[in-house]
Amino acid sequence: MAGTLGLGRPFTGMHTPAILWLRNDLRLDDHHPLRAAVARGPVVPIYCLDPRQLGTLPSGVPKTGAFRLRFLLETLTDLRAAYRARGGDLIVRMGRPDVVLPALAQQLGATHLVYHEEATDEELRVESAVEAALTAIGVSCEGFWGHTLYHPDDLPFALDELPDTFTTYRKHIERDAAPRAPIDAPERITTPAIDPGAIPTLDALGAASIPDDARVLFRPRGGETTARARLQHFIWDADRLRTYKDTRNGLLSVDDSSKLSPWLALGALSPRRVWSEVLRYERERVANDSTYWMIFELLWRDYFRFVAVRWENAIFQRPGLQRLTLPWRTLRDARTADDFAQWTAGTTGYPLVDAAMQELAASGYTSNRARQNVASFLTKNLGIDWTLGAEWFESLLVDYDVTSNWGNWTYSAGVGNDARGFRFFNIHKQSAQYDPDGAFARHWLPALGTSAYPALMVDLFASAKSHEAKYRKAVGWT
Ligand code: FAD
Repeated sequence: MAGTLGLGRPFTGMHTPAILWLRNDLRLDDHHPLRAAVARGPVVPIYCLDPRQLGTLPSGVPKTGAFRLRFLLETLTDLRAAYRARGGDLIVRMGRPDVVLPALAQQLGATHLVYHEEATDEELRVESAVEAALTAIGVSCEGFWGHTLYHPDDLPFALDELPDTFTTYRKHIERDAAPRAPIDAPERITTPAIDPGAIPTLDALGAASIPDDARVLFRPRGGETTARARLQHFIWDADRLRTYKDTRNGLLSVDDSSKLSPWLALGALSPRRVWSEVLRYERERVANDSTYWMIFELLWRDYFRFVAVRWENAIFQRPGLQRLTLPWRTLRDARTADDFAQWTAGTTGYPLVDAAMQELAASGYTSNRARQNVASFLTKNLGIDWTLGAEWFESLLVDYDVTSNWGNWTYSAGVGNDARGFRFFNIHKQSAQYDPDGAFARHWLPALGTSAYPALMVDLFASAKSHEAKYRKAVGWT
């Protein structure tokens, strides 16, 4: 078989390239499909900017907001440079993968495609469509699992027997399983000369512009290079892993937690690489509760992904994993729409909630402690449909990860698999504990303490009590 590629160079079947379809795995390090493709010969790594990712969510917000889109474009730019430095290239195309990939395979005479598997419905549908289109033209497709620290084949149970609670899961894992060691990036990569395609700008994609905001302290730049730099900084140079367990609930200081989530979510960083660096730190500096806790958090990340495999679409549905039909307030009534708008704008009158929501809107990030508080406030004090909150986060988060986001929201809304009745965060107490001197609130809310600052939109305890009564009624506890 012989063909002609984009630049008119002759191309022989002896070196038929494998297509490497990239999605949330935008790195060279610890990348099994890439290693598998390189072992066969030339490889054509391709990223498709799927117009469906640029659409809107049911509540009307952009599916991929500007923070994440900017981060993605930066990541692609960095990845292209990394491929080129090794002799290869990264191909970028606009279009649906099930249309772009078969056309590319035919152009190249490719007979093999490799990719990382995803876990949730929308992504799996895309995979099925790609596989169907490629199989129909004689291209074989090979999927690899790679998003988690533990490989599902190494778990001491089948995924359809995944324990109902995180603690049980964690104990089994810690006793009976181990992560696989990360694999290094290939040194040389050969990509046939085809038109690489331009990486579009944010403007060209019609994204909203991101205003400069002097309050933003954490502005992650996309790419494997910055991912590794952040890992090096947090663990080694700033030596913050040593005290992570004590500082991780900090709201303001960038180094209080690892801030690795944006890179992990887009796959610019492998969780196995983080894990192996933590082990090295334990060998070379110190092993303590903090080093353990970093791995512990990665287990949560894994758990949510495995939960999504076991419970499928329940993580996206209002009744959640508990199948609880609760009387959520929805945007159909105008009063709820106003209340929801106050929550999104960060004008609830509760400084901790407002600072976090304004941080999210200005930067695409807010800390785990802040996320838990705002999610509790929306669902337990305002009684508003938690899926609206999850969509708001999906749109804005620079570290949006489908299973971490929707899984955490089911927990916060009390419909996760580990739900323990109606539990709400006492925002007053949380503020006193985690923002004792008010530095976080003052940083984000210049009007705090002036007459311009909004009044409390609800009474914390009365609103929680009223929603608890509805909850108890719905679950039959009254
Ligand atoms: P660190 O404290 O340094 O933790 C290290 C890593 O462990 C994180 O980067 C992350 O990959 C993982 N991790 C930590 N906590 C969790 C957790 N609770 N669940 C899953 N993984 C965790 N995280 C996302 O990555 N994407 C999301 O879309 C997302 N949505 C969330 C929505 C809600 C309502 C809540 C309460 C939490 C959400 N989280 C999400 C989890 C958590 O808030 C972030 O992972 C964390 O704040 C990222 O900051 P970090 O990297 O400094 O975390």
